[in-house]
Parts: sequence; C-alpha cells; structure tokens
Amino acid sequence: MRLRVRGTVQGVGFRPFVYRVATRLGLSGFVLNDPDGVLIEAEGPADALEALQVALRAEAPPLAAVEAVEAEPIPVCGERGFTIRASAQGAALDTPISPDVGVCDECLAEIFDPSQRRYRYAFTNCTNCGPRFTITTAIPYDRPNTTMAAFEMCAACKAEYEDPADRRFHAQPIACPACGPRLTLVTAAGEPMPGDPIEEAAALLRSGAVVAVKGLGGYHLACDACDDAAVTRLRRRKAREEKPLAVMAVDVAQALELVDAGERERAVLTSLRRPIVLLARRAGARVAPAVAPGNRYLGVMLPYTPLHHLLLRAVGRPVVLTSGNLSDEPIAYRDDDARRRLGPIADAFLTHDRPIHMRCDDSVTRVLDGAEYPIRRSRGYAPAPLRVQPGFPVPVLGAGGELKHTFCLGKGERAILSHHIGDLENYEAMASFTEAVRHYCRIFDVRPEVVAYDLHPDYLSTKWALEQDDVEAIGVQHHHAHIASCLADNGRDERVIGLALDGTGYGSDGTIWGCEVLACDAASFTSHLHLRYVPLPGGSAAVREPWRMAAAYLQEAGIDASGHDLARRAGSAWRPVLQMARTGLNSPAASSAGRLFDAAAALCGVRDRVGYEGQAAAELEQLADPSVEAAYPCPVGEAEIDGVTLIAMLYDDLERGRDPAWAAAAFHNGLAGALVRAAGAVREREGLRIVALSGGTWQNLLLLRRTRRLLLEAGFEVLTHRRVPANDGGIALGQVVVAAARLRRGFDSHRDGAKMA
Ligand code: ZN
Ligand code: ZN
Ligand code: FE
Repeated sequence: MRLRVRGTVQGVGFRPFVYRVATRLGLSGFVLNDPDGVLIEAEGPADALEALQVALRAEAPPLAAVEAVEAEPIPVCGERGFTIRASAQGAALDTPISPDVGVCDECLAEIFDPSQRRYRYAFTNCTNCGPRFTITTAIPYDRPNTTMAAFEMCAACKAEYEDPADRRFHAQPIACPACGPRLTLVTAAGEPMPGDPIEEAAALLRSGAVVAVKGLGGYHLACDACDDAAVTRLRRRKAREEKPLAVMAVDVAQALELVDAGERERAVLTSLRRPIVLLARRAGARVAPAVAPGNRYLGVMLPYTPLHHLLLRAVGRPVVLTSGNLSDEPIAYRDDDARRRLGPIADAFLTHDRPIHMRCDDSVTRVLDGAEYPIRRSRGYAPAPLRVQPGFPVPVLGAGGELKHTFCLGKGERAILSHHIGDLENYEAMASFTEAVRHYCRIFDVRPEVVAYDLHPDYLSTKWALEQDDVEAIGVQHHHAHIASCLADNGRDERVIGLALDGTGYGSDGTIWGCEVLACDAASFTSHLHLRYVPLPGGSAAVREPWRMAAAYLQEAGIDASGHDLARRAGSAWRPVLQMARTGLNSPAASSAGRLFDAAAALCGVRDRVGYEGQAAAELEQLADPSVEAAYPCPVGEAEIDGVTLIAMLYDDLERGRDPAWAAAAFHNGLAGALVRAAGAVREREGLRIVALSGGTWQNLLLLRRTRRLLLEAGFEVLTHRRVPANDGGIALGQVVVAAARLRRGFDSHRDGAKMA
C-alpha cells in the first residue's frame, strides 16, 4: 500500500511518528519526505494497514496539520522491517514549512535538570519544538537546508538523531553544549564580557540597562519592566514615544500579577505559538508607567525559547521585550546589522552564533468571545498556509498594502500569508519585502503569473507590483480586499454585505475611502453607502493632529467653535485650518472612519495630537463607559451615513456638561446603530443577509461588540476575523482571493470590478 500524506507534515516529527506506528503494527516498508509531503510504502495484514491510515490522522504529532491521506494499492515486494529513508529531491516543491514553535515541556524539563547534558543549554529543541521557518534556507526541510548546516553533530547528538525511538530522531536543529550554538554577552562595542552570559545579562537588566537579545526571528530590546527610568531610557533611545511596549513574564502566575486573563486567554498565552496577548491590565500591576502610558491593556507574552526561560528566571521580574529596531524600521536579525543599528540603543548584546535566515516579529493577538482575534500574524503563525476554496487557477502574488504590510502567495488551494514586514515606508522595509518574496517563492516553489495590488498609486507595494515583468497585474480596491480577506478567513465564498471601516484606502473614484458599505463577493463589489465626506485639513497633518478633524467636522456641521476649549488649545492654527478645510486647499475629502473617531476623541478631550495612527481612536474606546446603552443620532440616507450630525450631537452634549466617558460610549453606539441600518438598506436592495466586518477600525472591540449584537438582533449572520488581522495586515490575502475570482470569471484585469449603486 502506498500512502501519500499532504499538509504541514515536514519538520514536525512526522516520519519518526510513522516509524513508531508502523513498527507497533508490525508493518514493513519505508517513509520519506518528498516535495509533495510524506510518502509511505507499507505492507502487512489488511487490518494493520487500515489502523495505520487511521493513526496518521488521529495520532499525528502536535505540530502536524494533515490535510489529506491518499491510499493506493501497490504490489507486495516482500520488504523486511520498516525504515526512514532520506529525503527525495524533486521538481514540484509544494510542502509547507512549519512556523517556529515554542520550547516543549520535555525540553524545558531537561534545561532545568542538572543531571541532563542539556542542563541550562539555550538551544535545546526536539522534533516537537524549536526553530523552523526562521532557520530554513531551502527545502526539503533537512539540516543542510537550515542555518544549523555549519554545526557538526557530536556523537551523542548524532545517536539521538538516528534513533527512531528518540524524541530527537531527525530533529534538524538538534544541538547540545558540546556541538551546538553558543551564547555570548558583548558590550555595545562588541567586546566580550566575562562571566556566564545569562547571569551577567540578567544582572545588567536588574541594574536598569538596555540589553539587545537575539531571539528566534530577530533581536529584541530588553529592559526591566518595573523600572520606569530604564523603560523611559529605552523609549528615548529607540525613538518610540508612545506606542505600548510588550512585556514577557516568566510564567502564567507572574503574568497574572500584571493582567487579568480568563481560561481561553491563558490558553492562547501558553500555546506553543506564544503570541503577545493584549490583556486588561490589573489595577496596581507592578509595571512601570512608561511601558504602556495611558493604556488599560498590556501586551504580555511568555518565554518561547530556552534562552528566554533562562533569562527571565535569572532576572526574577517581568521584562520589556520590544522589537530590536529604531522607530519604524524592520526588526534587526543579522548580527552585523544589529550591532550597527542597535549599538546606540543597547548597553550590551546577549547574542549567539546560530544565524537567523528569515526575520520574523512576534505575533500580537486578542481574545474575542473565546476565539483569537489577531492583530499581527507573524512568528508562530506564518507561514502556515490558509486553505482557500475554490482556490487559485494560476499562482498569484498579493503585493499587500502599505502599513502593517504583509504579502500573500496563492497556489492551488493554499494561501500563504507572509509574516509581518512592517510599514513599507522606507528602504529597509522595502528591501525586507522583496527579499521575503523571493524566499517564499523559492521555499514554496511558486512562480506567480499574476500580481494583485492596491489601487493607491503611491503605495510602494503598488509601484513594485507594476514594475514586475512577465506577470499580469490586477488592481484590487482596498476595502474590497478587506472584505474578501474576511470571507477567506471564514472559509466563505458568497455575496455578502461588507462593512469596511479603516483609516484610509484609495477609492475606485480616486477619493479617499474609509467607511464603506458594500455588497460584494470575491470577484466584484457594489458600493452602496459610505460615511459623509469631510475634508482632512492638511492631509497627513490631519492624521497626526486629531483636533484638525474635530475642527473640520464642526465647520461641516455649521457650528462656530471658536470659543471652545479646542480652539483655544489650537491657538493661532485654528483659523488657518478652518480656512484650509473650507477652500479644500491641501484638504482632500474623505469618508474615513478613523478620522471620524479622531474628531470624537479630540472633542472628548482624549488628545489633540497622536504619536501613531489609531492612537486617539484606541484611547477613545478605553475612555468609553461600556455600561452606557444610549446612542447619539446618526442619520442614514440613500448613500450616506451622516457622521457630521453624529459629531454635532456629541459636541452639544459635551457642551451641556456630559461626562466624556458617557459621551464616548454614546458616540460608539450611535455609529454602530447607523452601520446596522445601512446594512439593513443593502439587505432590502440586494436580498443579502450575511455581514462581513473588516478594516482596522474593527480592532475597536467596543464598536465591534455593539455592532455585532445589533446585527444579530436584526437577523443578520455576522463574519469577523479569526486567523487574519482585520487591519491592513490582512489586505494581501484579500487581494489574491479577488484576483483569483476575477481570473475565473474572465474579468478585464484593468478594471477593479466596482459599481456605484
Ligand atoms: Zn522539545
Ligand atoms: Zn551535540
Ligand atoms: Fe485598510
């Protein structure tokens, strides 16, 4: 019998698992990795062959994802015994590489057991855990095709590697203190420091120093999370003023001293993917104010490499662990580059000699009603493929958007969404993007025939896509891509009502969109309603300064706010900004949900200026009192949701002395109600009853929960994201899905399939 196993089955201990089962069942034959996955030839009694097939699915190793088992009878050849054969080289390489995996319990126990030869060894791993994607240079996944190629196994490791009964049988990154990578602690100038690297690094951290730590997918910058001066120093040196920093706790118990976490949240926190989980901060949590200023949430993660476990235990306190980069550049992962870029930030480097081949930032997630709601899908998740049906007629590349950039390959029924690249606004990020595209195309053996891109002519990803030779380019409208990604995320392929809310996206008519009520399927969309257009005075300055949006909204509403506190705070800038908005000079009109939230946030006194996009909206959500059910009126017309009236109501109520926490909630509720009425209008016009929610604004869980509840009460089915972010990190998936649907239906590739209702 020949068995073909497809899915994520390489580099996850699958062959030793097959060996053990086959031996147990008394079967003879062999198992090997090949470009299509795992191939098994087995002979023996019929019931044993049957049992093997059942076990392949039922007992598969924890990291394997078996997508298909195909059986085919072949002649008996009288084979004796069962063997694991070396990998076969071949043409069509189609087998996914597993994401990196947090250290397993068995390896962890060895690290803290003085009788083990891997006691305190920072690079301990086995077939069930350890680095994968970040060390893979080529496929098939074998040691010579990883960054462990240069390390020669010692006799003891080799014996484990070759023993089918051992947990480390064919564990490609297998290593031990005698033969594997080594830790070093060096000064910022590169001078080695004496003593045990872990203990010395821990002592530096306890004394307030900033230490660069080489992890799985790149360098982190670490400091004592309880030391406000240290955190402030890290922020200043890194030029990161306001964005919250993530904290690593040594274990769940320590994490629970900082944040509240339910059962499901603890399960995500302790999963071997080890994401940063945004959790409600506990009152009086012993964490420095500078970690997440003014934020009710804290991003917490648990150690995922032996190095982290050793370091965190030695420090004895939670540690800030943030991407090793300056401001918005991609995370540093090559040693020389890290030394150069992080030298001015870090007091010392805790580093090692196992190279990182692909950089990969930490993932960030939240838990929404018992399910994950991803914010950044990266380490531990990427590059696990997402199954997409009906699949891709030809290989497609989605070039992505701009902020929170990812790209996506589509081939067969798999969509391979990349790890987080970052904001595509500088040369570093652009180089990281093109490098990663080449790597993914190689390791997944995809030669894209089509490249799908965002319609925004200034996005670097768009410019890049249009420069590619020998591929067909298909433009995909930003908000259509958002909704298509939500459909694919939920495994759906039908016509739905899309509520696409975000900061900005390039509209089919060349204007700035950002709150769109669409009727759409993967191939095309009809734009039914949108938020009323309001000028953004000063363009990008309006994004940085929410008070400008409040001024523009009030002017649209015919309210003279020149005596208001807002105008006083704006000082001499107030009049010119109003003038700009009135004349339209450098003030593009937009239907942006993000800017509507900015206006509301400025009026509620949250802030007049932001340090990063979405900050004011996030703080407005936190200000809002969730117990308030009242809603400000927000009229919905034929084609418009009247955000101007909504803001005018908010303004009047605040003027009458309303508590901003109450007002912020009534604003959220007012918008939610309007969106549900808009969806109702599309249901009447088109007979649709499923609503998909996508776009960065849906990271606002208060808005999401209120809107969803009202939609359900109105009889809609509601789709929200589960595996892919609602923000622009999910755009690339939507792009490839739209391109595939257009190809199947023979659309003219130069049109974006848009219709105005
Ligand atoms: Zn392990
Ligand atoms: Zn060894
Ligand atoms: Fe967007």
